[in-house]
Amino acid sequence: MLNDLENREVNLHTHIYMCRHASGTVEDYCSEAIKSGMKVLGISDHAPLPEHRRSDSRMDMEQVPEYAAMFAPAREKFPELTLLSGMEADVDFDTPMEYFTEGLLKKYDLDYLCAGVHCVRMEDMQLTVISPKKRFEINVFRKFVDDTVRLIEWGIFDFINHPDIMLMSLDKWDSQIEKELSRIPAAAEKSGTPLEINAYGLRKPVVEYADGIRHQYPVLNFWEMASTYRISCVIGSDAHRPEDVFGNSRDAYAIAEKFHIPCVNAEVAKKIIQRRGK
Ligand SMILES: [Zn+2]
Ligand SMILES: [Zn+2]
Repeated sequence: MLNDLENREVNLHTHIYMCRHASGTVEDYCSEAIKSGMKVLGISDHAPLPEHRRSDSRMDMEQVPEYAAMFAPAREKFPELTLLSGMEADVDFDTPMEYFTEGLLKKYDLDYLCAGVHCVRMEDMQLTVISPKKRFEINVFRKFVDDTVRLIEWGIFDFINHPDIMLMSLDKWDSQIEKELSRIPAAAEKSGTPLEINAYGLRKPVVEYADGIRHQYPVLNFWEMASTYRISCVIGSDAHRPEDVFGNSRDAYAIAEKFHIPCVNAEVAKKIIQRRGK
């Protein structure tokens, strides 16, 4: 059944109520996914960080057993769907790789991990939250890129979420920012890790920048630059409610097509399924 799997029949980026800023249960997502013709659905709620850090937008470590236990009954209830259990990881300044591999993936027998940077912590240890209302100096972008490249180089993530999300805080694309950001596709090319074109950004309001009115992310300048590297992409709806399970993914596919970036949703799903079977 999975041999003729199409990219559009796979979505590996969704969030349930447990991260405290999304709604719906695993089973709610399963029924929406089936309605929209999906064959493989991955649930990737936000992974906890050590010491309850940023727990306003993610589950706590103590809740992970409850999360992991939601998949077996849903698989039984929806046998026509291949349901994959995952998590979207993020790093804080000193989070080690083993925290995710040993402490989450293996311990709770999850199928996969993806990862994306959502906030950056500069030398003063203050957390810098990325927002369309903020503008940052180049050193903050540099830290975002450093953290993203670190995640890519670990080689434990099946794809990297919204690698251009920080550009929601950028007024104008120029050669300096291009040079910094280009370290992301360069690292992705080297490790063979797909980068996600994230459809959630396409559901958010457009913003007026010095560059003109555009989506907060995905940012076309970034993907044009990224397409000069030998990379692949995953399209993720990044749904925060069940009815968005495919939300705006079509527009994200159009960006991949525009810049001739090969999409590998089906390939990544098959890889995860094969790994699980071992
Ligand atoms: Zn994210
Ligand atoms: Zn997400």
